[in-house]
Amino acid sequence: MVAVSPTILLVEDEPAQREILSYNLTAEGYRVATAADGDEALVQVDEAAPDLILLDWMLPGVSGIEICRRLKLRSETRAIPIIMISARSEEVDRVRGLETGADDYVSKPYSVIELLARVRAMLRRTRPATVGVVLEWADIRLDPETHRVHRAGGEVHLGPTEFRLLSTFMEKPGRVWSREQLLDRVWGRDIYVDTRTVDVHIGRLRKALGGQDVLRTVRGAGYALG
Ligand code: CA
Repeated sequence: MVAVSPTILLVEDEPAQREILSYNLTAEGYRVATAADGDEALVQVDEAAPDLILLDWMLPGVSGIEICRRLKLRSETRAIPIIMISARSEEVDRVRGLETGADDYVSKPYSVIELLARVRAMLRRTRPATVGVVLEWADIRLDPETHRVHRAGGEVHLGPTEFRLLSTFMEKPGRVWSREQLLDRVWGRDIYVDTRTVDVHIGRLRKALGGQDVLRTVRGAGYALG
């Protein structure tokens, strides 16, 4: 079970391939957004705010390589890991794919099991809490599978929103999150919530954690852990 379901954007123009992968990713507990061509992919990146992109190289219209290049140039999308999928298996293509900024590369025909393993391995690095990795920072320990948080050995009781907030902070200690970024990550893009709601839940999280305050308010920017 995943604590905070990551969203995977699947960009594939062949309907049968799209369906098989979409089915398998959903079965693994991921939220799945799909796009059948390059233009739709670029729209979905902004709408679905994916945690990872599975990107077919050969697409009608804008190619996978070009999408990858554009996303890696934009500061808002640069950090989203991209696994490039291609029917072209030659080494030179693999190198070209990775040079464009793709984080990993899989050739067709691929085994679905292997592809799922690559997705999981990538998320372990980029979104560890979503795949059940226990997070530890200073005297705080968060277990995404049991939903339990301990500080200095004692159990901390958190509501679901505070739990998601803390796992977001603990995945990237030191990173400054704006209120809008926290809303997208913790509440999701589809829900309209006032940014002041973030402050309310940060307050609850601070209170629940007790002890010395570990959450830093960065004036005009947002919040950070440590
Ligand atoms: Ca294709």
